[in-house]
Amino acid sequence: MGFAGRQVSRRGFMSGLAAVGLAGCQAGGTGLAVRPSAAWPRVPDAGWQAWVAGFRRRAAARGIPARTLAAAFRGAGYIPAVIERDRNQFQDRRSLEDYLAIATSDERLSLGRAALARQGRVLARVETQFGVPAEVIAAIWGVESRFGTRRGEVPVISALSTLAYDGRRGRFFENQLMAALKILQQGDVTPARMTGSWAGAMGHTQFIPTTFNAYAVDFDGDGRRDIWANDPGDALASAAAYLRASGWRPGQPWAVEAGVPDGYSGGFGRRATRSLAAWRSAGVQATRGPLPQGGAAGLIQPQGAGTPAFLVFHNFNILLKYNASEKYALSVGHLADRLSGAGALVQGFGPDEHGLTLLQRKELQRQLTARGHDAGAVDGVIGKGTEAAIRSYQRAAGLPADGVPSLAFLQHLRG
Ligand code: CA
Repeated sequence: MGFAGRQVSRRGFMSGLAAVGLAGCQAGGTGLAVRPSAAWPRVPDAGWQAWVAGFRRRAAARGIPARTLAAAFRGAGYIPAVIERDRNQFQDRRSLEDYLAIATSDERLSLGRAALARQGRVLARVETQFGVPAEVIAAIWGVESRFGTRRGEVPVISALSTLAYDGRRGRFFENQLMAALKILQQGDVTPARMTGSWAGAMGHTQFIPTTFNAYAVDFDGDGRRDIWANDPGDALASAAAYLRASGWRPGQPWAVEAGVPDGYSGGFGRRATRSLAAWRSAGVQATRGPLPQGGAAGLIQPQGAGTPAFLVFHNFNILLKYNASEKYALSVGHLADRLSGAGALVQGFGPDEHGLTLLQRKELQRQLTARGHDAGAVDGVIGKGTEAAIRSYQRAAGLPADGVPSLAFLQHLRG
């Protein structure tokens, strides 16, 4: 989805903030059950079958047992909807403000506090063993799968073989498919339970198969690394193991919201690190309290002047290894801070490109829904749902149906 540095991220090229984005745009769904894969029908496809026959020979040559191959491909098939998703990956135009609004919506914070309470003991043990704070692990869980409520329902062998056969990124997906077969060979999960996103990100923490093989752990000691189970223990520990192996430094902060003085001209960038003393003498401070001890920091202000800025420490770069998007890492970090009891950001984002503030966009959504044009979650994020509600209202009111929010439109709604 257009994120820089995707090739080095955990998901390779894959959809940046899929979990946050989809969770922000879709309504409902708080149950823990993984939904059936009715929306992802497999269809007969001679080309896919021929490709699979060749792939099975390659997999057998690399030591995957015939029994594993037979079980993996029994009932597997070509999924046209996966290719549709691959072709229709939208350019992600959402701002950092949108990301943070979705990642730390009231609903997600409330789910997160409940999840922290429910999994507190296991998260405390994970924190002790891997040195990654419980709230950071919980935040990754919240962003990746909405605390386990959206783990993905697509059969992984079918999805990956469809994408590998399709060939747009064939080599990458063949590697992932091979890694998925190794997981089945090791007996961590059965083919039927091995589900994930349309692109093969699996379980509570949305690991792709190669990441699973490199980092997943059997935390409850039952002999299987099970990131798919309702019990998220193995998945949470696996996420912590991944961050620790990537270089997470225990006891250090990831970032702090920074106040940048008027007239600051010292530049931005997470790689342009300076000592905290140097930042202080440049007039850069924390917006609340003293600067935390975390070594050198870079200063970023992703949305430009007059919007929130952050001093980012070494651990911010480790969050980026999970997904190489600054908006992703800031969403995870800020959600972790909020789950730790910190308040919302001090600095606001100001009006958006349509001249509306977050509060006004939320009011717009509430007004639309109250008038019978469902704008979805009141999160202040103008996505497809809100745009459709605007158009629906405009049509009913005899206005030009352009679907564009504005202050004038909000005033019209207020009557
Ligand atoms: Ca286990």
